[in-house]
Amino acid sequence: MEELSLHSHQLNRRDFLKIAGMSLALLGLSKAFMPQMVKALEKQAGKPAVIWLEGQDCAGCTESFLNSLEPTAVSILLDTISLRYHETAMAASGYLAEEALEQTIEEGGYILVIEGAIPMGADGLYCTIGGKTFRDIVGEAASKAAVIVPVGSCATYGGIPRSGPTDSVGFQFRGTQKHHYYDAIAGGKPVINLPTCPLHPERLVAVLVHYLTFGTVPPLDQFNRPLAFYGTLQHDNCERRGHFDAGRFITDWGDPNQIGWCLYLKGCKGPWAYQDCWKRKWNNRVNYCIQANAPCTACSEPEFFESFSPVYERRFDVGLPGGGKVEIDKIMGTVAAVTAVGTGANLLIDRHMEKKNGEKTGDKEA
Ligand code: SF4
Repeated sequence: MEELSLHSHQLNRRDFLKIAGMSLALLGLSKAFMPQMVKALEKQAGKPAVIWLEGQDCAGCTESFLNSLEPTAVSILLDTISLRYHETAMAASGYLAEEALEQTIEEGGYILVIEGAIPMGADGLYCTIGGKTFRDIVGEAASKAAVIVPVGSCATYGGIPRSGPTDSVGFQFRGTQKHHYYDAIAGGKPVINLPTCPLHPERLVAVLVHYLTFGTVPPLDQFNRPLAFYGTLQHDNCERRGHFDAGRFITDWGDPNQIGWCLYLKGCKGPWAYQDCWKRKWNNRVNYCIQANAPCTACSEPEFFESFSPVYERRFDVGLPGGGKVEIDKIMGTVAAVTAVGTGANLLIDRHMEKKNGEKTGDKEA
């Protein structure tokens, strides 16, 4: 079967080394794995078939992936893997495209990337492609995949569409709740969830390279997110944390004296967001939400968007060690008061601490 192509492109050894080196660093693996990784990539080049499905989405994850520069998405798609089906990126359309999908599913053993939520309401009829519901397309594709990688907040936990009327879910989860619709179909195949809105391209590249090299998935947390990317709390690593601890919060966007202060009162959900945006950044490492003066929306979390909206409003209070809450309205802007309630750098985030310790939490409101 002919592969879908965007351009003629050839990866050389230098490119392989670059992709392998980057993936090792992203996953926190030893450089000792470098020869194994390069060998695996060279051996696999152009072979592993990938099906990339899009359901109830905005194509933002595709855009994010195609815009990656190092390594280029095109070099990954065309030289390291064999992209068989991708509605936005492929040249074919209509019958030809659907035939490519069917043939690849028949062959089996491919990597299945899912973008977009899966509407379950009205028997899945809210989203149909080529006369089939997306719900059924995902089921068929999952049944013969080797590994399943839902990308972005919608495909992982339902994301923004979960708040609408289509009864949408992610592949395994609806928010924090596991739903079992695809369990039997997926048949215990590895599932790697890569949330955030949109997908961070580096995270996908790294898990693909890891899978091609070792044939396994990297260590995951209870929501099947790779710990290497989702194991740290934004709030604990934030460049504005000093301002939070000192009680300096932005209350007026127009006040030049407040530039760079903590965004907590402007709705920042960083205290509940497990991700590594603070060090990985976005747009090829130029910046990320908080650096660009926008509150973190916690789009890495299963509760996004439903429980974390509105974006610009404080939804939760920060807890104190041993119980109680920070009386944020009293301490706002007063360093002395912060010290008086004994917060400082020892502030704890009550909500989700149990989650970090491995327990599942319910889908909840504040
Ligand atoms: Fe950073 Fe947000 Fe925490 Fe403030 S509340 S320190 S901006 S993560």
